[in-house]
Amino acid sequence: MPDTIFHRIMRRELPADIVYEDEHLIAFRDIAPQAPVHVLFVPKRDFATLNDVPEEEALVLGRLMTAAARYAKAQGFAESGYRLVMNCNADAGQTVYQIHLHLLAGAPLGRFGT
Ligand code: 5GP
Repeated sequence: MPDTIFHRIMRRELPADIVYEDEHLIAFRDIAPQAPVHVLFVPKRDFATLNDVPEEEALVLGRLMTAAARYAKAQGFAESGYRLVMNCNADAGQTVYQIHLHLLAGAPLGRFGT
């Protein structure tokens, strides 16, 4: 059984501030927020990195994005804006090897890069 921190949160073995859950995914606040709103959207299907998601599983990614967009809209960020980020492997800073989509919102966000 895959056993990242996020799997333990899904199994309710670790506490988290869960803001949304359905049969496909869970969303909870990042423990070290990088913006006023920083929520992680995590699928219940197991994929360590984006590299591991085959074309036929693209719906897993689509659901993460549409759930994040719905949440951002519900929180009032549809017009002011928000950012979705998925880090893949070391150079991008991935630290938890269960794919997850970061939603950042609530303030103007700096440009990103190196
Ligand atoms: P990554 O760098 O892999 O894209 O993002 C992992 C994120 O998970 C980081 O932003 C980090 O702050 C967050 N994180 C790590 N451990 C925990 C935890 O135990 N609980 C929560 N809610 N977030 C965590």
